[in-house]
Amino acid sequence: MSKRDYYEVLGVSKDASKDEIKKSYRKLARKYHPDVSKEPDAADKFKEVKEAYEVLSDQQKRAQYDQFGHAGANAGGQGFGGFGAEDFGGFGDIFDMFFGGGGRRRDPNAPRKGADLQYTMDLEFEEAIFGKETDIKIPKEETCETCNGSGAKAGSKPETCSHCQGSGQLNQEQNTPFGRIVNRRVCHYCEGTGQIVKDKCRTCGGAGKVKKHKKIHINIPAGIDNGQQIRVAGQGEPGVNGGPSGDLFVVARVRPHEFFDREGDDIHCELPLTFAQAALGDEIEVPTVHGRVKLKIPAGTQTGTHFRLRGKGAPNVHGQGKGDQHIRVRVMTPKKLTDRQKELLREFNEIEGNESTEEQQDNIFQRMKRAFKGEE
Ligand SMILES: [Zn+2]
Ligand SMILES: [Zn+2]
Repeated sequence: MSKRDYYEVLGVSKDASKDEIKKSYRKLARKYHPDVSKEPDAADKFKEVKEAYEVLSDQQKRAQYDQFGHAGANAGGQGFGGFGAEDFGGFGDIFDMFFGGGGRRRDPNAPRKGADLQYTMDLEFEEAIFGKETDIKIPKEETCETCNGSGAKAGSKPETCSHCQGSGQLNQEQNTPFGRIVNRRVCHYCEGTGQIVKDKCRTCGGAGKVKKHKKIHINIPAGIDNGQQIRVAGQGEPGVNGGPSGDLFVVARVRPHEFFDREGDDIHCELPLTFAQAALGDEIEVPTVHGRVKLKIPAGTQTGTHFRLRGKGAPNVHGQGKGDQHIRVRVMTPKKLTDRQKELLREFNEIEGNESTEEQQDNIFQRMKRAFKGEE
C-alpha cells in the first residue's frame, strides 16, 4: 500500500491557502461520504481525504509533511493509526529530530567517547599544600590488543547482525486502540552493537576489551584542596567504534591536620599562650607550613586575639599567590601550681587590688540579675 500525496488527494497545489484546503476538503468529503456516495470505494476515499485534511489543515503537521512526507506528518502525533509499516522508512531519524534527547536512537556504529573514570586520592595535609607527583594504579578496561577491539578471532570478522541489519535496534509493532504503535528496542541478538561475532577472540572472549591495571602518572598541583579534582585527559575507558577515550578524574581527599585547618587558601590555627606570656608579652616562634615564623605577642594579649601572617597560607591552586595564616590566641589558665607560684599569685592579686575585683564582680552580678528579670 503506497500513499498518495496529500495535496494530490485534496486536489490542491503545494502552496494552497488554508481556505482553499478547507473548501476542497468539504467538497470531497461530501462527495465521498459513505452515507451519500454510491461509489464502491467511497469509504476508503473518504478516509484518505479526511486524513489528508487533518494533516494539511494543521500548520505544524503540514510543515512536517512538506519536509519529511507521510512519516513526518505523523511522527509528532500520538497515534500512528492506519499507516503501513513501509511508511516508517526513515522513522528513526525523524524521531530523533522531533524528540531531541528523550527518544534518541543511537547509531550503534557511530564513534562514542569512552566512560570517564573517577579515582579518589588520599593526601596528607602538606602534600595538598605543596603538590605531589605520584603513580597510581587503576583498574580500567582497555581495547583488546589481540583483536584490536573487534572481539573477533584472528582471521575472522564480525558479521552484520541479520536481525537488525546492523542498526542495533528492532522495531516492534503493536496494535492498540489508538492505532499501530511502533516501539524501538535494542536488538537482543547483537545487544545493540549491530554486529555478531561468531569466532570469538580468545583473549577477551568477544568483548573487544580487557580489564587491566594501568599505571598512570599523576601530578597533583600545589594548593589542591579537599574535594577538588583534576582531570587527566584520555585516561578513562576506551572509546567505542574508534571514538576517543574518556577522562580520568582524580579527586583529592585531604587528611585533617592536628594543628592546622584550611579554609580556601588560608590556614587557621590556635595558639596557646601562658598567662604570663599573654600578660607580659613575648616574642615566640609559631609553626607554619612554610617553616617557623617569629611572632611578637604584645603585653596584655587576650584570648581570642587574632594575628595574621601574610603569605604563609596555602599556594593558590591556580597559581595566584598564597593565602595567609591566621592565628587565634588562647590563654591557658594554669592547672597545677607549686606553693611558691600560688604565693606569688596571691600577692599579685592583692597588689592588683581587691576593690576593683569586687567592683567587677558587682557589675557582673547586676548584669546577671537584669538578664534573669528579662526572662521572667
Ligand atoms: Zn580480543
Ligand atoms: Zn542486531
